[in-house]
Amino acid sequence: MILSRKSLNISESSTLAITALANQLKAKGVNVIGFGAGEPDFDTPDYIKEAAIKAIKDGRTKYTPVSGIPELKEAIINKFKIDNNLEYKTSQVLVSNGAKHSLYNAMQALCNPGDEVLIPTPYWVTYPELVKMADATPVFVRCDHTKDFRLDLDDLKAKISPKTKAIIINSPNNPTGAVYPQEDLEEIAKLAIAHDFYIISDEIYEELIYDGRKHISIASLDREVKDHTIVVNGVSKAYSMTGWRIGYAAGPEEVIKVMTNIQSHATSNPNSIAQYASLAALRGNKDDVYMMRDEFELRRNYMVQRINNIKYLSCNMPHGAFYIMMNIQELKGKVIEGNVINSSEDVTKLLLEKANVAVVPGDGFGTDDFVRLSYATSIKNIKNGLDRIEAFISSEV
Ligand SMILES: *Cc1c(COP(=O)(O)O)cnc(C)c1O
Repeated sequence: MILSRKSLNISESSTLAITALANQLKAKGVNVIGFGAGEPDFDTPDYIKEAAIKAIKDGRTKYTPVSGIPELKEAIINKFKIDNNLEYKTSQVLVSNGAKHSLYNAMQALCNPGDEVLIPTPYWVTYPELVKMADATPVFVRCDHTKDFRLDLDDLKAKISPKTKAIIINSPNNPTGAVYPQEDLEEIAKLAIAHDFYIISDEIYEELIYDGRKHISIASLDREVKDHTIVVNGVSKAYSMTGWRIGYAAGPEEVIKVMTNIQSHATSNPNSIAQYASLAALRGNKDDVYMMRDEFELRRNYMVQRINNIKYLSCNMPHGAFYIMMNIQELKGKVIEGNVINSSEDVTKLLLEKANVAVVPGDGFGTDDFVRLSYATSIKNIKNGLDRIEAFISSEV
């Protein structure tokens, strides 16, 4: 039987193989320290859980409107107004099964076969696959670590073509932790307007931003930019609610309408109980959010300082999210405990097998000179894991 050619072209998540290996080791009783986490290690705050329990007891267990319960959409509109200085109508907001689902809906709504979608590299592993699922072609734009992983604007200009349909930006960024400065956002916006393509702005890490920096939503730059932008956000990262699966998108009414139609036939409304929990999250004060952010910032500071003191390793200071791209360029060609290192995959395998530390190889993010470490784990684990990495590297001959 011939399966869908398009679907066969969708890659397995690059993190799966390493997770499977790590689990095998753990099953054998090996104490593995994991730097692979793609989600906060904190529990969902209690007031949010209570709201979900109440929703169940109140019988909020039936279908809701496809695009979300009106109260939640109001809370999202209010959030955009207060946090981002953006005004949306209810018809411009769609609540989905996670921000990932919002991104999927957006790609499906926008793309025709042959369209091109610009993706800054390193990228979140899911973006190229979402583009391919929408019959479009990913086009990669460089972000150099020597320039703080900011978008190379000359490369961006060179990659724009008549087929360009959209750019996906993600600031604060997974995996680099880059936060795009306002002048870069303005430049991206100018190009989107001049060449008439959409901006899909994934702002899921908005709240996790450090050094007193401020998040700027590109749509808030001006009216015309807003008309070209679909903002995607959600509760997963800010409120440690990854399992609840609530994300949302806001944008031009005609795009949101098509996205809603697609969702209506694929999944209907997102989980009713999780919507009430998300409503409580957005209505609550941000004490828990700030507590988590402050803790992440402390861990980041420690980790960056440690990595930059280990021979052959280095990293930039990330300004948001909870990941560090650890530069392994200098390790390439080295021999450690009899093993030659040629790739991020090699580093990952060796660290797991010899040091019992799990990291994520950079090639899945579009760059082989790095491995990604997440600091969504305790400072004790971070210290322990880095001690192991340091000991392993120092056994190089
Ligand atoms: C975690 C993550 C998401 C997905 O969030 P969900 O709301 O849980 O689907 C989206 N974009 C990036 C860059 C992420 O890291």
